[in-house]
Amino acid sequence: VIKIGQPEHSVVTTCAYCGVGCSFKAEMRGDELVRMVPYKDGKANRGHSCVKGRFAYGYSTHKERILNPMIREKVTDPWREVSWEEALTHTASEFRRIQYQYGRTSIGGITSSRCTNEETYLVQKLIRQGFRNNNVDTCARVCHSPTGYGLGQTFGTSAGTQDFDSIEQTDVVMIIGANPTDAHPVFASRMKKRLRKGAKLIVLDPRRTDIVRSAHIEAQHHLPLKPGTNVAVVTALAHVIVTEGLFDEAFIRERCDWDEFQDWASFVALPENSPEVVGQLANVDPEEIRGAARLFATGGNGAIYYGLGVTEHSQGSTTVIAIANLAMATGNIGRPGVGVNPLRGQNNVQGSCDMGSFPHELPGYRHVSGDAVRDIYESLWGVKLDDEPGLRIPNMLDAAVDGSFKGLYVQGEDILQSDPDTKHVAAGLAAMECVVVHDLFLNETANYAHVFLPGSTFLEKDGTFTNAERRINRVRKVMAPKNGLADWEVTQKLAQAMGIAWNYQHPSEIMDEIAKTTPSFAKVSFDYLDKMGSVQWPCNEQAPEGTPIMHIGGFVRGKGKFIRTEYVATDERTGPRFPLLLTTGRILSQYNVGAQTRRTDNVMWHSEDRLEIHPHDAENRGLRDGDWVRLTSRSGETTLRALITDKVSPGVVYTTFHHPDTQANVITTDFSDWATNCPEYKVTAVQVGASNGP
Ligand code: SF4
Repeated sequence: VIKIGQPEHSVVTTCAYCGVGCSFKAEMRGDELVRMVPYKDGKANRGHSCVKGRFAYGYSTHKERILNPMIREKVTDPWREVSWEEALTHTASEFRRIQYQYGRTSIGGITSSRCTNEETYLVQKLIRQGFRNNNVDTCARVCHSPTGYGLGQTFGTSAGTQDFDSIEQTDVVMIIGANPTDAHPVFASRMKKRLRKGAKLIVLDPRRTDIVRSAHIEAQHHLPLKPGTNVAVVTALAHVIVTEGLFDEAFIRERCDWDEFQDWASFVALPENSPEVVGQLANVDPEEIRGAARLFATGGNGAIYYGLGVTEHSQGSTTVIAIANLAMATGNIGRPGVGVNPLRGQNNVQGSCDMGSFPHELPGYRHVSGDAVRDIYESLWGVKLDDEPGLRIPNMLDAAVDGSFKGLYVQGEDILQSDPDTKHVAAGLAAMECVVVHDLFLNETANYAHVFLPGSTFLEKDGTFTNAERRINRVRKVMAPKNGLADWEVTQKLAQAMGIAWNYQHPSEIMDEIAKTTPSFAKVSFDYLDKMGSVQWPCNEQAPEGTPIMHIGGFVRGKGKFIRTEYVATDERTGPRFPLLLTTGRILSQYNVGAQTRRTDNVMWHSEDRLEIHPHDAENRGLRDGDWVRLTSRSGETTLRALITDKVSPGVVYTTFHHPDTQANVITTDFSDWATNCPEYKVTAVQVGASNGP
């Protein structure tokens, strides 16, 4: 609801939805938020915004928001409101009891990509210093963990290479498995502006997304590949570039290992990687593959932007590597207008990964087995740290089902709704003795919780978010926390209740500790961010004003590494029972599982998950537009309405997953990326049939 009235003062802060990281002026009258005005000096958005950031803040005052801590002995008991002190003392004593009874590694925690860097840092610190293990993971596990692996292996660090401004100098935009119009709207507008000025567009996506054909824009090449064939198609692009001699030899000789390139080149040149063979496999015209490869290699500055359509596959990490190979082979790294850019979904996915939320990495992507890096934290925190990687989220749930994992602290993530194989997640949660949910609302995971700690919104705290271009933006407190404590204070009080002597007075002190211990953040402080507006890491003595473009003159790992990317078909196969392939995505007005946007009245106006189906497949099943259909997979079934459209190819169906009733993750498989366990959300064999409705 837009509230009309004259604001009395304003505070500049950062949107808490997507990874674009738009800056806003929150205009206030007393304690009441009057409106959010896009901030013209915001470096990521330059005065622009989308409907979510501008209007979808009503959830912060929604009547379903929980403001008091609650506990219960059994999950079948009713909740009992308690004081903060009782909730945190009880939680601390339960965690210590479990560790005493079942061992040091029997508990763990999950950080949130919705929370600030400072809050995320504290959760991983609580687990490493307080729980004394590395059982920490983050919701990036289910989205961009393959980016971490793939870019880490090839370039040496897990981060987008460019700033958003770089798009102004791009001649060829390649978008793979991303729908920026809906998921990253403000950056999509900048892309479209550049495309309207003459830049060329290549899109690899099973679906004809808006950007393929929109006002004054027509992609030069849209490759509507079959879900699950990314590796084959990207490698086929490389095949054309290598066999037609379109690679950038000077760049490769200077910046990469020439022998590794030759090995990779001999692999991609194999006949099985040719456009003809891959075209048949992926249902793509071989001439489109050839045309796209030639355009990317010879069209000037080429930049690749990709999303979850790349990462959420059993070969997600391999596809990220294939993309990096393509950029290196064409010399499209290390200068304005080029690069490899993961479009991060949540506001602070980049930051949560930077802050050491993975079970194998301390802040700054440094492996827990490194003695030198552990020394830094051991001397500061005064404890001996575990040098073995801990459990990932799926491993925690497996261990819970097996009986060795008993307690979990979940900050700002609804794992029951957003993680794959809902039944297994439920079984894991049900097997634990203390599940602590720290969130704004009683989400689906809270059905299995013993303690509920009310969370604070981005309007109620100070801190920083790091966006998709590595830009560290300030989040500023606009109003007092309605629940009494900002999230960082809750984690601190929990640590204190567990006997750990933390005494941060303000989140700026947490950032000071991050800067002291993480080389890529060495010069970052709240004062410096206030002075600079924002900075992109690395920001240190070598780069005092931050680093808009990475890998200039040399890769972080030294030489860029070419790695063979062999296509391996997913185990999820179509057949007579499940002849169609389901893939999933988002719409502009909703956000992920909709916990916030569904609780903001003004964006609810066209909110329904529909199943997009090609006219040919609909006709074969006797379906009309708007009919209820039953969607069935090997994992489960659900019911939703059909939307007949040729945006999807024959044989492919598509839905969004913004509503709990859709139960998209009841349908999806439990296959996951071979390197990171990122779930394969984007490929599910299904059948569609008529239904009378739910
Ligand atoms: Fe917020 Fe993203 Fe929209 Fe910007 S584009 S206003 S960051 S949701």
